Amino acid sequence: MELYYCTNCTKYTMDQKCKICNKSTSIPRPPKYAPDDKYTKYRAEIKIDERRLKGLYQKT
Ligand SMILES: [Zn+2]
Repeated sequence: MELYYCTNCTKYTMDQKCKICNKSTSIPRPPKYAPDDKYTKYRAEIKIDERRLKGLYQKT
């Protein structure tokens, strides 16, 4: 059985589609060719986007 990961909910699931947000999930695995730097930036962008969607985005 494969374990999938929903980047939107940041939760693991057994399904290829998240039952919470209905978005497609992906198999969690560390990027082999992408530099850590780039990956972190990408994750940060997702975080900011999430906050904006939830209306919790605040300027510091
Ligand atoms: Zn989800």
